Amino acid sequence: MVARTKDYQLEADMAPARGFVSLLTGSFSTPATDNPTVAMVEAAYAAMGLDARYVNCDVPPSGLADAVRGALAMGWAGFNCSLPHKVAVIDLLDEVAASARIIGAVNCVVVRDGRLVGENTDGQGFVESLHTVVDPAGAHVVVFGAGGAGRAVAVESALAGASSVTVVNRDPVRGRELAAIVADQTPATATYTPWTAAYAVPDEATVVVNATSVGLAPHGDALIDVDLASLRPGVVVADVIPNPPRTRLLREAEARGCPTLDGLGMLVNQGVLGIRLWTGQEPDPAVMRRTLAGIFG
Ligand code: NDP
Repeated sequence: MVARTKDYQLEADMAPARGFVSLLTGSFSTPATDNPTVAMVEAAYAAMGLDARYVNCDVPPSGLADAVRGALAMGWAGFNCSLPHKVAVIDLLDEVAASARIIGAVNCVVVRDGRLVGENTDGQGFVESLHTVVDPAGAHVVVFGAGGAGRAVAVESALAGASSVTVVNRDPVRGRELAAIVADQTPATATYTPWTAAYAVPDEATVVVNATSVGLAPHGDALIDVDLASLRPGVVVADVIPNPPRTRLLREAEARGCPTLDGLGMLVNQGVLGIRLWTGQEPDPAVMRRTLAGIFG
């Protein structure tokens, strides 16, 4: 928990109504230069007619505790944590939501009654996207990758009702660890499959997710090592890569009759969840998606 030199919330409670004081939110990460979330969230705030700001802050690891303390002192409604702070921030919080605790990472912090509450909206954003094409209940999900995005996608899919999760990852330690987390801490069954050759998607798979960093700009044409012929028509294929939104994996999958979900949708959805948590109001996802699509060209 962050050591407080004063009880900021007590003083905030005694302060007059907001007046010219904007609702403050933002992001702590480093490097922060290419973070597109600021444009997406500020566009949403403007469309909502809210006097609210989202400040993109470049915060080194040594400054994280001070940044969090500063946000509290300034009465921020909350903030996102991106790389490299998603794990380190946990020690600074008063409370961590159950799914974020299982994932082991927090990307969204909400200040609630002066308490810092950590959430993980990455995986929830993915599951919201998934619901637009298929009910996750009973799904057999294949997740490529076992890093931050892979953990969020695997755990939230399992908590949303997927019956089994197969983790495919190069590094066996990370892969096995994620499969064990899903098997031990969610109702789903889970296995780890070593990724030593082109992976053939099993017949029982209903959802396939690229949660590796393969395909991220400027390497938008890179493809994960998957046997494309094993992508049966009807299998949902999703990519966490937001830029470019139409990755080569998604193009190949579409050509084989697979419904697809892009990483832009996941990014928008986690932004929607954050804004909802910070403001209690509903942003327009179309405005947010348009803003991001403009940035990513
Ligand atoms: P991490 O560094 O935590 O994990 C990277 C993962 O990618 C690891 O599993 C790694 O495998 C795997 N990987 C990297 N290169 C290769 C390769 N050549 N072949 C196979 N596997 C590879 O990163 P994150 O999980 O945080 O982020 C991954 C991607 O997800 C990023 O591109 C990020 O932009 C995106 N993302 C998108 C979000 C959204 O809202 N759309 C939200 C969060 C992330 P190994 O363990 O074997 O090294």
